[in-house]
Amino acid sequence: MTAQLLNGRQRAKQLQSELSESFAEAAAASGVQPTLAALQVGEDSGAAGYLRAIRRACQGVGVTLRPIKLPEQSSQGEVQAALTELNSADDVHGIMVLEPLPDQVDGTRLVEFVSSAKDVDGVHPLNAGRLAAQREPHFVPATPAGAIRLLEEAGVDFKGKRAVVIGRSDIVGKPMALLLLHRHCTVTIAHSRTEDLPGVARQADILCVAVGRPEMVTGEWIKPGAVVVDFGTTYIGGSLKGDCEQASVEAVAGMLTPVPGGTGPMTNVMLMDNLLSAYRRKVPADGF
Ligand code: NAP
Repeated sequence: MTAQLLNGRQRAKQLQSELSESFAEAAAASGVQPTLAALQVGEDSGAAGYLRAIRRACQGVGVTLRPIKLPEQSSQGEVQAALTELNSADDVHGIMVLEPLPDQVDGTRLVEFVSSAKDVDGVHPLNAGRLAAQREPHFVPATPAGAIRLLEEAGVDFKGKRAVVIGRSDIVGKPMALLLLHRHCTVTIAHSRTEDLPGVARQADILCVAVGRPEMVTGEWIKPGAVVVDFGTTYIGGSLKGDCEQASVEAVAGMLTPVPGGTGPMTNVMLMDNLLSAYRRKVPADGF
């Protein structure tokens, strides 16, 4: 078997043009320019690279990016104060905090200071809780949202299927597991302490891998015909590698999101989709 590759790059392009039209229509009707604020603390090159990617995503859909840069030595209180200001700014519709942050700033505590109504990353506990409880409104983190969209549009049948998600981060693994559960999969979440990981993975009709260990999953881990979602992104010698060894996995799986070109390109357009929801809701800054 050779897996069908799910082309996230192509789908992201189409979505980008749909979003671009939606933003233009909404902005023309309201007279308010959609704006995303991105807060960076210090000079980290990873955060700066991410900011460039976000800028391209914003430009692609006609959104204004407002970058806010605080000095490397900023205290937790100073970063929180900057967020509080953005929360109450009527002309800011979404807020994201770029990571990594300097050591003195606790990112986990920081997410609680972003208004849940502007939390387009979907990391505020209120959004995470509402996703878990299937209560609207909430924002779904962009990476798993993009993956589910690719699977749904490829006609994947979720009901009653065994899904295994390897990785339990708040931005990828856990929300992906919830999205699968809500579609009636029987879900197992695996992680670094899971015993017999290849054996657990082999039970999966739908296997999602969000670990960050390049080519960890090989064809022997895959149930023949399974749907495989590879979230991994690691640069090795200038080329991007996923968590799956593509050649051997592709030979056994029924569908695969490749790296590059699978879930990655979908992420930033889904972020813009979240921003469109935030913009349309135009809720007050103190929450839903
Ligand atoms: P993370 O926060 O570091 O979480 C990694 C998870 O993998 C943890 O739950 C960890 O388990 C688990 N893990 C680590 N080593 C393992 C092992 N040997 N066996 C089984 N599980 C293991 O990472 P993340 O933010 O979720 O990102 C995961 C990957 O997705 C990275 O490559 C990242 O670059 C990529 N990513 C891609 C996108 C995209 O747009 N496609 C977006 C975000 C992230 P414990 O919890 O037990 O430590």
